[in-house]
Amino acid sequence: MSEFDYDLFVIGAGSGGVRAARMAAGFGARVAIAEDRYLGGTCVNVGCVPKKLYVYAAQYGKGFEDARGFGWDSHLPPFNWSTLRDNKKIEIARLNTIYDKLLEGAGAQLFTGRAAIVDAHTVAVGQQLYTAEKILIATGGWPHIPEFSGSEHAVSSNEIFDLDTFPERLVIVGGGYIAVEFAGIFNGLGAKTTQLYRGPLFLRGFDEDIRRHAAKEISNSGVDLRFKNNVQAISPVGSALEVTLTDGSRLQADAVLYATGRKPHLTGLGLENVGVGISAQGTIEVDSQYRTSEPSIFALGDVIGGMELTPVALAEGMAFARHNFGEQENVVDYEFIPTAVFCQPNIGTVGFTEEEARAKFENIQLFKSSFRPMKHTLSGRNEKSFMKMIVETATDRVVGVHMLGPDAGEVIQGIAIALRAGATKAVFDTTIGIHPTTAEEFVTMREPWTGN
Ligand code: FAD
Ligand code: NDP
Repeated sequence: MSEFDYDLFVIGAGSGGVRAARMAAGFGARVAIAEDRYLGGTCVNVGCVPKKLYVYAAQYGKGFEDARGFGWDSHLPPFNWSTLRDNKKIEIARLNTIYDKLLEGAGAQLFTGRAAIVDAHTVAVGQQLYTAEKILIATGGWPHIPEFSGSEHAVSSNEIFDLDTFPERLVIVGGGYIAVEFAGIFNGLGAKTTQLYRGPLFLRGFDEDIRRHAAKEISNSGVDLRFKNNVQAISPVGSALEVTLTDGSRLQADAVLYATGRKPHLTGLGLENVGVGISAQGTIEVDSQYRTSEPSIFALGDVIGGMELTPVALAEGMAFARHNFGEQENVVDYEFIPTAVFCQPNIGTVGFTEEEARAKFENIQLFKSSFRPMKHTLSGRNEKSFMKMIVETATDRVVGVHMLGPDAGEVIQGIAIALRAGATKAVFDTTIGIHPTTAEEFVTMREPWTGN
């Protein structure tokens, strides 16, 4: 009989924590998991799921306009924010219940409350102490809003889904995933949307062509995109907000959304009681098996940094459970992780950007295509798709694929499998297309781009 109450105590029932807890319990481990806010974590409650539901909502707006060219005498009906918000709440509550049942079904003991580490084998939830052979920190991240005059009037992605009233005028600050996705959502829902980014071009880290094409299409779609600009101060004026920008101009807004990154959620976790190493960026340092510098304590998901995506946290949770309780060697392969930005149109990407590929390989070939999707020949919408493929010349291997266009995430998920299987350009070329689709462009890109 073990000297501990549990074999594993997981702190945080989000994407990574729930997956690790369920799998470990499935391997026969005695598992406890603590959650102080909402089952399913960021993704289910204030991330991927509600975000995608709101993206669908935003796309209907365009759909009514686009339908006219196809013979539908459609007029834009009024949009009801409270219907969307409240239906979303019902769906999330349903998902919370499912997570509860999943944990119960797996045999993991759920504690509702904030957990803190007391020592290398002890966790406190409220006044109650529990011991465990291993402790897993899966506490995720938390939005970071910088401090400035009036920053208390800004909201983060945590609050934006549930605003009491629809912000007819919205200012969004940031140039990462969340900022561009919410610019698309609120612009699509009919808000006058301004997005501010401090640098010359947003979406740093993505392929530069994609960034440029995205900026053009997002701007065409109606978002007032302002680069090299930032907020200096926010002050309330009646029931509205006055936003003073660094270029001296002013904007009137009903809400200001700060999407300026997320920080590891470590507040009150008791890390000062143990020897867990923290990086300069504030993430928990782990080895390839997610072990921290305190041998009985592990960490995974957003709290360790890297690609902060739900499927990555899930993969880490599974690898952790298999390795520690399933007696199987298991490491996550971080090569060719696909990702999508659900802006309008979507971005989907896998592999190296052109800039990364030039630095890594001696010679590369580029294939590019920009075109108006067939749907818009009749809808009349002036929106273009862009696709790009990067090939290492020496091996003919496709090492990067990037797309801006409808359902880019759906397309790139399939392409990612090909890249992980080591597909060459010749394999792409001999693959028969599905006609008429946008995705077939990836198997018909014959001529390398020569810079003209
Ligand atoms: P989380 O899911 O954040 O879970 C951590 C949990 O720990 C939380 O429930 C928290 O309440 C709990 N917790 C924290 N501290 C304690 C404590 N001391 N005691 C008890 N419980 C505690 N990723 C995608 O792949 N696709 C997307 O489309 C996508 N969209 C996103 C949209 C938004 C607006 C945001 C913010 C994120 C999005 N993400 C998306 C990222 C994704 O949500 C995260 O990468 C993922 O949730 C990380 O999982 P995790 O297990 O590390 O942490
Ligand atoms: P990101 O790190 O992606 O972007 C943060 C943005 O804020 C950057 O443009 C950054 O600029 C800017 N910024 C940072 N500090 C300041 C400041 N003080 N003033 C002005 N601008 C600032 O974070 P997000 O919050 O957008 O998203 C967090 C993470 O969540 C993402 O990285 C992603 O991993 C995940 N996510 C995934 C999604 C998906 O899979 N579809 C959707 C949403 C989130 P700069 O570039 O100059 O540093």
